[in-house]
Amino acid sequence: MKREITIIGAGISGLTTAYFLVKAGVPVRVLEKQSRVGGLLGTQQTPHGLVETAANGLINTARLEALCADIGVTLLSLQPQSRSRYFWRDHPRRWPLTVGESVRMTAGLVRHLGHWRPVAGETLDGWGTRLLGAAAVQHALTPAMGGIYASDADQLSASLIFNRKGLGLEPANPNGNAKPAKPARRGTVSPKGGMQELMDGLSNYLRQQGVSIELNRGAQLERDAPTVICTSAAHAAELLSNHAPEVSQALRQVELLPIVTATCFYEHSPRQPQGFGCLFPRHGEIRALGVLFNDCLFEGRSALRSENWILGGASDREVVHLSDAELETTLRRNHALLVGAEEPLLSYHVTRWPQALPHYTLALERVLTTLPPLPKHLALVGNYLGQIGLAKIIERAYRVASQIADA
Ligand SMILES: Cc1cc2nc3c(=O)[nH]c(=O)nc-3n(C[C@H](O)[C@H](O)[C@H](O)COP(=O)(O)OP(=O)(O)OC[C@H]3O[C@@H](n4cnc5c(N)ncnc54)[C@H](O)[C@@H]3O)c2cc1C
Repeated sequence: MKREITIIGAGISGLTTAYFLVKAGVPVRVLEKQSRVGGLLGTQQTPHGLVETAANGLINTARLEALCADIGVTLLSLQPQSRSRYFWRDHPRRWPLTVGESVRMTAGLVRHLGHWRPVAGETLDGWGTRLLGAAAVQHALTPAMGGIYASDADQLSASLIFNRKGLGLEPANPNGNAKPAKPARRGTVSPKGGMQELMDGLSNYLRQQGVSIELNRGAQLERDAPTVICTSAAHAAELLSNHAPEVSQALRQVELLPIVTATCFYEHSPRQPQGFGCLFPRHGEIRALGVLFNDCLFEGRSALRSENWILGGASDREVVHLSDAELETTLRRNHALLVGAEEPLLSYHVTRWPQALPHYTLALERVLTTLPPLPKHLALVGNYLGQIGLAKIIERAYRVASQIADA
């Protein structure tokens, strides 16, 4: 009989690590300090439609598909009306560059063919300007990466984003060099009832397998107890302070960025752009990183126009401190600029995350590439370890669980 593994944290990192361990026949218990499972992920059903507190969807993979089929969670694909994606440059555009800027970008890509990987210590701005030109960085790369990493190109590490393998950050693949299986449906997916359905599905499945999930249980590390820490970097640093002080010290340097998400409901109007959403440049007239057009994304999200605005990040840290009234004014103004007219706001739901996402800076690149080894009985899974998106976190959970099961 294998020794029981303690999982600290019942967000996506913790519950998927627990799932893969259980599948491999390893007994686990899960400790979560909040009164619910999900961590950042959460879904509210409101009279006007579904509201997500963080992610609205995730990139589909064969592993996610198999997991969801196993735990009985139905995944929806994007609706056809979500196909258009916009960048803001004076107004929403399908392609933000002029013909001249596009030619410069293509020429740069051709010139660097086969040598496009960033080098260690290079910012996204430096890498992008070298390859694609300044206009492509300002109008395309910065908004696109800002929408995911909530920061600016001159602060982000290009290698962390585009060359994780080169930095040696990926845990060994238990399947060797075999190519990952392709999912039946490509692209972004979401559980029918929102992201909380995935978390509840995982938690119900684990409980049925006899796993104890203890809520309201702020855990401490127990001496020599095999444990996977599935929390934010800041909480992992706290937990490790007596057991792996050097790792703890390094993780304390990981900066966490504040984010506000706001789902706003409007009557439909012909002025509203249809599609996936729109990304915004920094310091422009619209105060946001991006907006998702929820009602276009997945079937059944809302009968109304539903917009999910994401604000904050590295260049707008003050946004979490705005009062409700100030936020409402900002949201109304953003929407009016987006559609070119004021429209009545029917209702809105705000989530403030003072410490939402790890900042993928050169400092994080340094932390991760020089992280001292952990004691053998400890492992880490989380969004600060080189993978911010859910699909990549699930892959790390699988690999870490496989290593533990094979040990
Ligand atoms: C606004 C926003 C939008 C996003 N959109 C997307 C998206 O569209 N697609 C995508 O792929 N990703 C998206 N992400 C990223 C993704 O949501 C996160 O990276 C992911 O949810 C992090 O999950 P986690 O389990 O690692 O951490 P968390 O969700 O933070 O979970 C950690 C858990 O550990 C618990 N914990 C901490 N300390 C202790 C302790 N001592 N004892 C017990 N429990 C403890 C916490 O209470 C928490 O429940 C988004 C993130 C944000 C903030």
